[in-house]
Amino acid sequence: MTLFDVGFRPQASPDTLRGTALIRTVQEGITTVASAAGISETRVRERLAYMVGITAEAGDEHDRRQAVRQLMAWSLEPASLLARKKPRKPVSQRPKGVACRLPRHARVTWACHQMVCGLCADPVPPGELVGRMPTPAFYYQPMGWLCTQCLYLRRAQPRLRDVLLRIFHHVFVGSGIGLNCYECAVVLRSIEADLAASNTVAWKIDPLDGVLIRLRTSIREEKHTTWLSVADGLTIVAVLRETIAGRGSGEQEIALLDAIMQHVEEWRTNPYRVEARRFGTGIRYRQETLNRVPRDTVLSALGGPFDLHQCEPGSEVSSAPMDQVM
Ligand SMILES: [Zn+2]
Repeated sequence: MTLFDVGFRPQASPDTLRGTALIRTVQEGITTVASAAGISETRVRERLAYMVGITAEAGDEHDRRQAVRQLMAWSLEPASLLARKKPRKPVSQRPKGVACRLPRHARVTWACHQMVCGLCADPVPPGELVGRMPTPAFYYQPMGWLCTQCLYLRRAQPRLRDVLLRIFHHVFVGSGIGLNCYECAVVLRSIEADLAASNTVAWKIDPLDGVLIRLRTSIREEKHTTWLSVADGLTIVAVLRETIAGRGSGEQEIALLDAIMQHVEEWRTNPYRVEARRFGTGIRYRQETLNRVPRDTVLSALGGPFDLHQCEPGSEVSSAPMDQVM
């Protein structure tokens, strides 16, 4: 391996760069890498667009951050940049069955630098496949680069965290909570893992007996979507928070459950005095409340709301009934 004499090291982590500073950093990186490698900036730009899947100009800030990561990687390991043949791009394997109806990714590449998944916030090591989902419509925000689990498997082989994220983003956008049969199974298993679930404070306030019956039906009939109310979704979160904490396990789940409960409470009480005349009381209000959190949580750091629907836009599930959260 040949190390360049002049490495490209941005002044800030690519995760925190934005706006003109980010655009400037991409250009600085291209200039530095081209000069150190002894090739033209045009060739660096072409290879960069190939690796990221889009030019820095046409892409969004998530793409430009990925471009910075790629330039940092090339500045230390120029072999793939200097090779005449372009490196192979990853090939995806989408799951079959009910959950295969996730929208097809917009582009995929390799993680070339340590990064964080734009949905579940898991660390993604260099060499792993990462990808972007298509640009969402309406009020949804684009997710960053996603890990393999979030790109392909979160609905076919969901973890509890995948389902909790789903609940959060449905509440964020003000819709009922749509779960497929795999996700219903995860929720049911998580609740039934603790015999004390029905003794929790949250269950006593809002019993989940009827919800459990609906979850079992969804699993038995392999339903594509079972709609739960926001209230039931939040009771599930509160019950799991009590039972998982009681078992002393599931550090990541506890952090996520805490973050959901914190933000839902903030949306209810408006502690940061978000002005209704500027931001209304719906999605923009909830976004602004998230922006003003004094200390970022795993959810506020990534933003939203994110479109986690199963079907392509325009299909029956996308037209989910909307109702106010609170
Ligand atoms: Zn992820």
